[in-house]
Amino acid sequence: MFAIAIDGPAGAGKSSVAKAAATALGFTYVDTGALYRTIALYMLEAGANLEDSQAVAALLPQVEVSIRYSPQGQRTLLGGRDVSEEIRTQQVSMATSRWVSHIPAVRAFLLDLQRELAKRANVVMDGRDIGSVILPDAQLKIFLTASPEERAARRTKQLEAAGEPADFNQVLREVIQRDRQDQEQLGVIPPDAVTVDTTGMGFDQVVDRLTSLARERMGTF
Ligand code: C5P
Repeated sequence: MFAIAIDGPAGAGKSSVAKAAATALGFTYVDTGALYRTIALYMLEAGANLEDSQAVAALLPQVEVSIRYSPQGQRTLLGGRDVSEEIRTQQVSMATSRWVSHIPAVRAFLLDLQRELAKRANVVMDGRDIGSVILPDAQLKIFLTASPEERAARRTKQLEAAGEPADFNQVLREVIQRDRQDQEQLGVIPPDAVTVDTTGMGFDQVVDRLTSLARERMGTF
């Protein structure tokens, strides 16, 4: 199997770039952030105290998180329920990055699931610790980044396009806050990762860069 690990901060365009690169290469795209978000959604709905990592850990055995693929891409399930849209709210984003993703029991709970997915298919897997922890033997590791201002500008545009009024400065503050909260996982950039700074790069350019890096590597494996 060939695995491409894409790590980097929130808003660097990982998921859209990873999805497009996976399609171009005929690989399966795995969005690991969705798994963390689904656990956060479960905990919020259960009324768990997210600051109490033991209470969260105690509830984990009840959480059934899985993914399936539809023509629209990855769908994320909690129990039998498709929560792909619900996990995108601001409340879930913040709960995930502030509390849930820092709980070691949560990371351990999702480790095997992520590794299993990479055993079944050639994957493009995006997250924060894919190249460092989940798939340390991935054939290609990318650290995808962009300046906070560029990421905030892209996010503001996306929100506006979705009909949600957005204030650039507010979005920028949120981007910086997410960076701070995710620092622990992002701190470990594997030495064999290729850093791609997408500031000033167009979407197609980034996808081309990734697919050509992958094709180069595939030729050598
Ligand atoms: O990638 P996405 O923004 O959907 O991830 C949501 C949150 O899940 C991140 O802010 C991060 O806290 C956490 N996460 C993580 N490790 C991953 C993927 C996501 O800690 N591999």
